[in-house]
Amino acid sequence: MSQNYQTSLLSGENSVTQAMELLQKGEAVALPTETVYGLAADASDIIAVNKIFEAKGRPKNHPLIVHIPDVSHLENWAKTIPNIAYDLATLFWPGPLSILLQKADHVHYEVTGGLDTIALRVPAHPLFLEVLTKLNIGLAAPSANRYKQLSPTIAEQVMQGLGGRIAAVLEGGPCQHGLESTILDLVSEKPRVLRAGPVTQQQLETAMGHSVDTPKNHAEAVPGNIEAHYQPSTPLRILSSAQLLEKIDSLLQKNCHLIVWSDTIIERCKKVNFPVSKWSNLENDAALFGRDLYVTLYRVDQTFPSQIIIEKPPQSDAWAAVNDRVSRASA
Ligand code: AMP
Ligand code: MG
Repeated sequence: MSQNYQTSLLSGENSVTQAMELLQKGEAVALPTETVYGLAADASDIIAVNKIFEAKGRPKNHPLIVHIPDVSHLENWAKTIPNIAYDLATLFWPGPLSILLQKADHVHYEVTGGLDTIALRVPAHPLFLEVLTKLNIGLAAPSANRYKQLSPTIAEQVMQGLGGRIAAVLEGGPCQHGLESTILDLVSEKPRVLRAGPVTQQQLETAMGHSVDTPKNHAEAVPGNIEAHYQPSTPLRILSSAQLLEKIDSLLQKNCHLIVWSDTIIERCKKVNFPVSKWSNLENDAALFGRDLYVTLYRVDQTFPSQIIIEKPPQSDAWAAVNDRVSRASA
Protein backbone atom coordinates (compact mmCIF):
# COMPACT_ATOMS: atom_id res chain seq x y z
CA MET A 1 0.00 0.00 0.00
CA SER A 2 1.38 3.36 -0.99
CA GLN A 3 -0.04 5.06 2.12
CA ASN A 4 2.19 3.31 4.63
CA TYR A 5 5.55 4.94 4.20
CA GLN A 6 7.46 7.07 6.66
CA THR A 7 8.86 9.27 3.91
CA SER A 8 12.45 10.36 4.60
CA LEU A 9 13.74 13.71 3.43
CA LEU A 10 17.30 12.85 2.42
CA SER A 11 19.83 15.67 2.56
CA GLY A 12 23.52 16.23 3.14
CA GLU A 13 26.25 13.63 3.23
CA ASN A 14 25.25 10.09 2.12
CA SER A 15 21.87 11.27 0.83
CA VAL A 16 22.64 10.24 -2.76
CA THR A 17 23.80 6.80 -1.59
CA GLN A 18 20.64 6.38 0.48
CA ALA A 19 18.47 7.33 -2.49
CA MET A 20 20.36 4.85 -4.67
CA GLU A 21 19.95 2.04 -2.16
CA LEU A 22 16.19 2.59 -2.01
CA LEU A 23 15.95 2.62 -5.81
CA GLN A 24 17.94 -0.61 -5.98
CA LYS A 25 15.48 -2.17 -3.54
CA GLY A 26 12.67 -1.35 -5.96
CA GLU A 27 11.31 1.72 -4.17
CA ALA A 28 10.05 4.92 -5.80
CA VAL A 29 12.11 7.94 -4.70
CA ALA A 30 11.57 11.61 -5.56
CA LEU A 31 14.68 13.17 -7.08
CA PRO A 32 15.39 16.74 -8.14
CA THR A 33 15.74 17.45 -11.85
CA GLU A 34 16.48 20.79 -13.49
CA THR A 35 12.84 20.94 -14.66
CA VAL A 36 10.68 19.78 -11.70
CA TYR A 37 11.08 17.09 -9.03
CA GLY A 38 10.57 13.61 -10.53
CA LEU A 39 9.27 10.45 -8.87
CA ALA A 40 11.87 7.91 -9.97
CA ALA A 41 11.89 4.11 -10.12
CA ASP A 42 13.93 1.51 -11.97
CA ALA A 43 12.34 1.47 -15.43
CA SER A 44 13.15 -2.23 -15.96
CA ASP A 45 11.32 -3.29 -12.76
CA ILE A 46 7.54 -3.49 -13.26
CA ILE A 47 6.78 -3.63 -9.54
CA ALA A 48 8.86 -0.50 -8.90
CA VAL A 49 7.24 1.30 -11.83
CA ASN A 50 3.80 0.42 -10.51
CA LYS A 51 4.69 2.15 -7.24
CA ILE A 52 4.95 5.40 -9.21
CA PHE A 53 1.41 5.00 -10.55
CA GLU A 54 0.06 4.06 -7.13
CA ALA A 55 1.73 6.91 -5.26
CA LYS A 56 0.61 9.49 -7.81
CA GLY A 57 -2.85 8.04 -8.45
CA ARG A 58 -1.88 8.27 -12.11
CA PRO A 59 -3.98 6.46 -14.75
CA LYS A 60 -2.10 3.43 -16.09
CA ASN A 61 -2.28 4.60 -19.70
CA HIS A 62 -0.28 7.78 -19.05
CA PRO A 63 3.25 7.09 -20.30
CA LEU A 64 6.37 7.86 -18.26
CA ILE A 65 9.58 9.55 -19.41
CA VAL A 66 12.67 7.37 -18.96
CA HIS A 67 15.82 9.15 -17.78
CA ILE A 68 19.17 7.75 -18.89
CA PRO A 69 22.76 8.51 -17.81
CA ASP A 70 23.99 9.45 -21.30
CA VAL A 71 23.29 9.11 -24.99
CA SER A 72 24.99 5.70 -25.21
CA HIS A 73 21.96 4.28 -23.33
CA LEU A 74 19.54 5.27 -26.12
CA GLU A 75 19.86 1.86 -27.81
CA ASN A 76 18.92 0.10 -24.57
CA TRP A 77 15.47 1.66 -24.72
CA ALA A 78 14.71 2.62 -28.32
CA LYS A 79 15.02 1.11 -31.79
CA THR A 80 15.28 2.54 -35.32
CA ILE A 81 16.86 5.69 -33.93
CA PRO A 82 17.22 8.46 -36.54
CA ASN A 83 20.51 10.38 -36.77
CA ILE A 84 18.75 13.58 -35.79
CA ALA A 85 18.18 12.07 -32.33
CA TYR A 86 21.94 11.90 -31.81
CA ASP A 87 22.40 15.45 -33.14
CA LEU A 88 19.77 16.78 -30.74
CA ALA A 89 21.31 14.80 -27.88
CA THR A 90 24.67 16.42 -28.57
CA LEU A 91 23.11 19.86 -28.51
CA PHE A 92 20.61 19.59 -25.69
CA TRP A 93 21.64 16.75 -23.32
CA PRO A 94 22.00 16.77 -20.43
CA GLY A 95 19.00 19.08 -20.47
CA PRO A 96 15.22 19.62 -20.58
CA LEU A 97 14.45 17.92 -23.92
CA SER A 98 12.61 14.57 -24.01
CA ILE A 99 12.78 12.75 -27.32
CA LEU A 100 10.05 10.36 -28.44
CA LEU A 101 11.27 7.25 -30.32
CA GLN A 102 10.09 3.71 -31.12
CA LYS A 103 10.47 1.66 -27.96
CA ALA A 104 12.81 -1.32 -27.92
CA ASP A 105 10.89 -4.63 -27.87
CA HIS A 106 11.82 -5.55 -24.30
CA VAL A 107 10.61 -2.26 -22.74
CA HIS A 108 7.61 -2.95 -20.53
CA TYR A 109 4.28 -1.49 -21.64
CA GLU A 110 3.75 -0.40 -18.02
CA VAL A 111 6.39 2.27 -18.67
CA THR A 112 4.99 3.49 -21.98
CA GLY A 113 1.32 3.40 -20.99
CA GLY A 114 0.74 0.67 -23.56
CA LEU A 115 2.30 2.66 -26.43
CA ASP A 116 4.99 1.45 -28.84
CA THR A 117 6.89 4.69 -28.34
CA ILE A 118 9.11 5.84 -25.48
CA ALA A 119 10.13 9.31 -24.27
CA LEU A 120 13.80 9.55 -23.22
CA ARG A 121 16.07 12.22 -21.83
CA VAL A 122 19.33 12.82 -19.95
CA PRO A 123 18.57 15.20 -17.06
CA ALA A 124 21.03 17.93 -16.09
CA HIS A 125 20.55 18.16 -12.33
CA PRO A 126 23.88 17.02 -10.81
CA LEU A 127 22.22 14.84 -8.14
CA PHE A 128 19.89 13.05 -10.54
CA LEU A 129 22.76 12.56 -12.96
CA GLU A 130 24.97 11.19 -10.20
CA VAL A 131 22.30 8.64 -9.23
CA LEU A 132 21.82 7.62 -12.87
CA THR A 133 25.51 7.35 -13.64
CA LYS A 134 26.32 5.32 -10.55
CA LEU A 135 23.36 2.95 -10.99
CA ASN A 136 23.95 2.83 -14.76
CA ILE A 137 20.24 2.14 -15.46
CA GLY A 138 17.16 3.93 -16.80
CA LEU A 139 14.88 5.60 -14.29
CA ALA A 140 11.24 6.24 -15.15
CA ALA A 141 10.34 9.56 -13.54
CA PRO A 142 7.15 11.57 -14.02
CA SER A 143 6.66 14.71 -12.00
CA ALA A 144 6.54 13.98 -8.25
CA ASN A 145 2.98 15.16 -7.62
CA ARG A 146 -0.43 13.56 -7.10
CA TYR A 147 -2.33 13.19 -10.35
CA LYS A 148 -3.47 16.55 -11.83
CA GLN A 149 -1.82 18.63 -9.11
CA LEU A 150 0.98 21.10 -9.64
CA SER A 151 4.41 19.73 -10.44
CA PRO A 152 6.70 20.36 -7.46
CA THR A 153 9.77 22.54 -7.82
CA ILE A 154 10.91 22.39 -4.17
CA ALA A 155 11.35 19.35 -1.90
CA GLU A 156 8.82 20.70 0.63
CA GLN A 157 6.13 20.60 -2.05
CA VAL A 158 6.93 16.92 -2.82
CA MET A 159 6.70 16.07 0.89
CA GLN A 160 3.35 17.81 1.14
CA GLY A 161 1.93 15.95 -1.88
CA LEU A 162 3.51 12.50 -1.57
CA GLY A 163 4.58 12.29 2.11
CA GLY A 164 3.44 8.88 3.45
CA ARG A 165 3.12 7.48 -0.07
CA ILE A 166 6.78 7.04 -1.13
CA ALA A 167 10.02 5.91 0.48
CA ALA A 168 12.01 9.16 0.27
CA VAL A 169 12.62 12.58 -1.25
CA LEU A 170 16.15 13.65 -2.13
CA GLU A 171 16.65 17.34 -1.29
CA GLY A 172 18.20 19.14 -4.25
CA GLY A 173 17.15 22.77 -3.80
CA PRO A 174 14.74 24.68 -6.05
CA CYS A 175 14.56 23.50 -9.67
CA GLN A 176 16.33 25.67 -12.23
CA HIS A 177 13.65 25.71 -14.97
CA GLY A 178 10.53 25.07 -12.90
CA LEU A 179 8.54 23.72 -15.89
CA GLU A 180 8.45 20.19 -17.35
CA SER A 181 10.73 19.20 -20.25
CA THR A 182 9.95 19.91 -23.88
CA ILE A 183 8.74 16.70 -25.58
CA LEU A 184 9.73 16.27 -29.23
CA ASP A 185 8.13 13.47 -31.22
CA LEU A 186 10.63 11.99 -33.73
CA VAL A 187 8.35 9.07 -34.63
CA SER A 188 5.68 11.00 -36.52
CA GLU A 189 6.32 11.79 -40.19
CA LYS A 190 7.24 15.37 -39.35
CA PRO A 191 8.84 16.09 -35.94
CA ARG A 192 6.37 17.76 -33.62
CA VAL A 193 6.47 19.33 -30.20
CA LEU A 194 4.01 17.38 -28.01
CA ARG A 195 4.66 19.56 -24.98
CA ALA A 196 6.20 23.03 -24.95
CA GLY A 197 9.04 23.38 -22.45
CA PRO A 198 12.30 25.10 -21.64
CA VAL A 199 13.80 24.17 -25.04
CA THR A 200 11.80 26.37 -27.42
CA GLN A 201 10.34 25.55 -30.82
CA GLN A 202 12.70 28.12 -32.32
CA GLN A 203 15.76 26.43 -30.79
CA LEU A 204 14.61 23.06 -32.17
CA GLU A 205 13.97 24.49 -35.64
CA THR A 206 17.39 26.12 -35.69
CA ALA A 207 19.01 22.87 -34.59
CA MET A 208 17.12 20.74 -37.11
CA GLY A 209 17.26 23.19 -40.01
CA HIS A 210 13.51 22.95 -40.72
CA SER A 211 10.16 23.71 -39.14
CA VAL A 212 8.55 21.46 -36.51
CA ASP A 213 4.82 21.03 -35.89
CA THR A 214 3.11 22.04 -32.66
CA PRO A 215 -0.29 20.34 -32.36
CA LYS A 216 -2.63 22.90 -30.84
CA ASN A 217 -5.31 20.40 -30.02
CA HIS A 218 -4.39 18.38 -26.92
CA ALA A 219 -6.79 15.59 -27.88
CA GLU A 220 -4.60 15.06 -30.95
CA ALA A 221 -1.66 14.21 -28.78
CA VAL A 222 -1.43 11.45 -26.14
CA PRO A 223 -2.88 10.19 -22.89
CA GLY A 224 -1.43 12.29 -20.11
CA ASN A 225 -1.38 15.41 -22.22
CA ILE A 226 -4.77 16.48 -20.95
CA GLU A 227 -5.99 20.02 -20.96
CA ALA A 228 -6.90 20.33 -17.27
CA HIS A 229 -3.49 19.69 -15.76
CA TYR A 230 -0.87 21.33 -13.60
CA GLN A 231 -3.60 22.90 -11.47
CA PRO A 232 -3.52 24.67 -8.12
CA SER A 233 -6.42 23.88 -5.74
CA THR A 234 -7.74 27.43 -6.08
CA PRO A 235 -9.63 28.28 -9.29
CA LEU A 236 -7.40 30.31 -11.60
CA ARG A 237 -8.41 32.91 -14.15
CA ILE A 238 -6.33 34.71 -16.75
CA LEU A 239 -6.96 38.44 -17.38
CA SER A 240 -5.17 40.63 -19.91
CA SER A 241 -3.20 43.59 -18.59
CA ALA A 242 -5.95 45.91 -19.89
CA GLN A 243 -8.71 43.92 -18.15
CA LEU A 244 -6.74 43.90 -14.91
CA LEU A 245 -6.19 47.63 -15.07
CA GLU A 246 -9.91 48.14 -15.46
CA LYS A 247 -10.97 45.74 -12.68
CA ILE A 248 -8.29 46.33 -10.09
CA ASP A 249 -10.38 48.58 -7.86
CA SER A 250 -13.24 46.09 -7.66
CA LEU A 251 -10.80 43.20 -7.08
CA LEU A 252 -9.57 45.01 -3.99
CA GLN A 253 -12.84 44.07 -2.29
CA LYS A 254 -12.52 40.38 -3.15
CA ASN A 255 -10.65 37.47 -1.56
CA CYS A 256 -8.49 36.94 -4.62
CA HIS A 257 -4.75 36.79 -5.21
CA LEU A 258 -3.15 38.52 -8.20
CA ILE A 259 -0.06 37.21 -9.99
CA VAL A 260 1.32 40.00 -12.13
CA TRP A 261 4.46 40.77 -14.13
CA SER A 262 4.12 44.04 -16.08
CA ASP A 263 5.44 47.36 -14.77
CA THR A 264 2.06 48.96 -15.45
CA ILE A 265 0.13 46.52 -13.26
CA ILE A 266 2.80 46.42 -10.57
CA GLU A 267 2.70 50.22 -10.35
CA ARG A 268 -1.09 50.12 -10.24
CA CYS A 269 -1.14 47.55 -7.41
CA LYS A 270 1.14 49.81 -5.41
CA LYS A 271 -0.85 52.91 -6.21
CA VAL A 272 -4.18 51.47 -5.06
CA ASN A 273 -2.49 49.94 -2.00
CA PHE A 274 -3.37 46.37 -2.94
CA PRO A 275 -2.43 44.49 0.27
CA VAL A 276 1.02 42.93 -0.23
CA SER A 277 -0.27 39.54 0.92
CA LYS A 278 -2.78 39.54 -1.95
CA TRP A 279 -0.50 39.93 -4.94
CA SER A 280 2.72 38.37 -6.21
CA ASN A 281 5.14 39.81 -8.66
CA LEU A 282 6.78 37.47 -11.20
CA GLU A 283 9.64 38.51 -13.48
CA ASN A 284 9.01 39.94 -16.94
CA ASP A 285 11.27 37.23 -18.38
CA ALA A 286 10.01 33.87 -19.67
CA ALA A 287 12.71 31.71 -18.05
CA LEU A 288 12.44 33.38 -14.63
CA PHE A 289 8.63 33.49 -14.80
CA GLY A 290 8.65 29.75 -15.57
CA ARG A 291 11.04 29.02 -12.74
CA ASP A 292 8.82 30.77 -10.20
CA LEU A 293 5.33 29.95 -11.51
CA TYR A 294 4.54 26.63 -9.77
CA VAL A 295 6.15 27.53 -6.46
CA THR A 296 4.18 30.78 -6.43
CA LEU A 297 0.91 28.93 -7.13
CA TYR A 298 1.81 26.44 -4.39
CA ARG A 299 2.43 29.21 -1.85
CA VAL A 300 -0.66 31.18 -2.86
CA ASP A 301 -2.83 28.04 -2.56
CA GLN A 302 -1.79 27.80 1.08
CA THR A 303 -3.32 31.22 1.81
CA PHE A 304 -6.78 29.99 0.64
CA PRO A 305 -7.96 32.81 -1.61
CA SER A 306 -11.24 32.13 -3.41
CA GLN A 307 -9.60 32.87 -6.75
CA ILE A 308 -6.17 33.39 -8.31
CA ILE A 309 -5.99 35.91 -11.13
CA ILE A 310 -2.94 35.82 -13.34
CA GLU A 311 -1.95 38.59 -15.72
CA LYS A 312 -1.86 37.13 -19.25
CA PRO A 313 1.81 36.58 -20.15
CA PRO A 314 3.33 37.81 -23.44
CA GLN A 315 2.49 35.55 -26.40
CA SER A 316 5.88 35.09 -28.13
CA ASP A 317 7.69 31.75 -28.74
CA ALA A 318 9.91 32.22 -25.68
CA TRP A 319 6.76 32.25 -23.52
CA ALA A 320 5.10 29.18 -25.14
CA ALA A 321 5.77 26.80 -22.21
CA VAL A 322 4.58 29.38 -19.67
CA ASN A 323 1.39 30.04 -21.68
CA ASP A 324 0.73 26.32 -22.08
CA ARG A 325 0.91 25.72 -18.31
CA VAL A 326 -1.03 28.86 -17.38
CA SER A 327 -3.82 27.93 -19.77
CA ARG A 328 -3.99 24.35 -18.43
CA ALA A 329 -3.93 25.60 -14.85
CA SER A 330 -7.02 27.66 -15.66
CA ALA A 331 -8.83 24.98 -17.72
P1 AMP B 1 5.29 13.96 -16.58
O1 AMP B 1 6.70 13.55 -16.56
O2 AMP B 1 4.56 13.78 -15.30
O3 AMP B 1 5.15 15.33 -17.13
O4 AMP B 1 4.54 12.97 -17.58
C1 AMP B 1 5.13 12.52 -18.75
C2 AMP B 1 4.37 13.00 -19.95
O5 AMP B 1 5.22 12.78 -21.08
C3 AMP B 1 3.13 12.20 -20.26
O6 AMP B 1 2.01 12.67 -19.57
C4 AMP B 1 2.98 12.35 -21.77
O7 AMP B 1 2.30 13.54 -22.08
C5 AMP B 1 4.44 12.46 -22.22
N1 AMP B 1 4.96 11.16 -22.74
C6 AMP B 1 5.75 10.29 -22.11
N2 AMP B 1 5.95 9.20 -22.85
C7 AMP B 1 5.27 9.37 -23.98
C8 AMP B 1 5.02 8.59 -25.15
N3 AMP B 1 5.55 7.36 -25.31
N4 AMP B 1 4.25 9.11 -26.11
C9 AMP B 1 3.73 10.33 -25.96
N5 AMP B 1 3.89 11.12 -24.89
C10 AMP B 1 4.63 10.66 -23.91
MG1 MG C 1 3.31 15.37 -14.52
